[in-house]
Amino acid sequence: MTQQQKDRSEHLLKVEELKKYYPVRGGFFRRKIGDVKAVDNISLDLKRGETFGLVGESGCGKSTAGRTITRLFKPTEGKIFFEGKDITNLRGTQLRNLRQDIQMVFQDPYASLNPKMMVGSIVSEPLVNYGKGSESKLKDEVMNLLTRVGLPEDAYYKYPHEFSGGQRQRIGIARALALKPKLIVADEPVSALDVSVQSQVLNLLKELQDEFDLTLLFIAHDLSVVKHMSDRIGVMYLGNLVEVADADDLYRDPKHPYTQALISAIPQPDPRNKSERIILSGDVPSPQNPPVGCPFHPRCPKVMPECSGKKPQLKEVNKEHRVSCLLYE
Ligand code: SF4
Repeated sequence: MTQQQKDRSEHLLKVEELKKYYPVRGGFFRRKIGDVKAVDNISLDLKRGETFGLVGESGCGKSTAGRTITRLFKPTEGKIFFEGKDITNLRGTQLRNLRQDIQMVFQDPYASLNPKMMVGSIVSEPLVNYGKGSESKLKDEVMNLLTRVGLPEDAYYKYPHEFSGGQRQRIGIARALALKPKLIVADEPVSALDVSVQSQVLNLLKELQDEFDLTLLFIAHDLSVVKHMSDRIGVMYLGNLVEVADADDLYRDPKHPYTQALISAIPQPDPRNKSERIILSGDVPSPQNPPVGCPFHPRCPKVMPECSGKKPQLKEVNKEHRVSCLLYE
């Protein structure tokens, strides 16, 4: 076995140089005139049992990355390995089988639950579709799941509109757990919820992670939420991963100027720890026409002349800490 094959099989998930582009068409014949580079060459890996947080401003490509990794979207380029097996081009039955191991929890629980179905049917649907469990045991299994996520047993007979936002997200989590997946990709799972409910749902996800032996890819724009959940964190900007580090290390010693700006914006509970906030100028450029060189250079407070000519690569600056910035090359 080569070192590369060994690395791939040791991780639950390994993503290599993944790209997801959307064609832009124009003119009378609707010819392709360019690409929206939603995900532009990202590489990452998830160890079994860990939570990897993917963070960045809205529109940075993190949700598209999550959906491409789970194969809800077809990658444009790159490779995805799950338990050492190349899943990049799976189709048909093989792709359907993969869905048992990789599930998603979505941002808007109401939009992702069928309003015409009772909660019992919503949660049991994946089990029925995959022929898991006998009919007599199915109801008990679903009841157990509902109780485990903190819902009353009579939730089984109710409809999604009869629940609060937090409860609806619990239904979404129960459904995602039904097939006992190995990986859950949670895409902004608490950003649509009241702040008071957010921490309850986050704590539930953490408890379930231990109990169900789950690996989590946790996608969010809020760095304080990501910190609460993650063992390691990847920061995305304009479709690129610009920094990957152990969570504590990233918050204690952010290397990339973009990460430094994001962390400076987190409110500090203790005013004595208050550091100066870094305000970024301008807006995130269009992914259809990203800047040449470092994608962050038009907004970077530490920009150098070479930054507009050379695109930095994600490189190790110390153990488990990688950054893509010419300051460190
Ligand atoms: Fe800023 Fe240059 Fe580093 Fe990009 S490469 S983050 S522009 S210093």
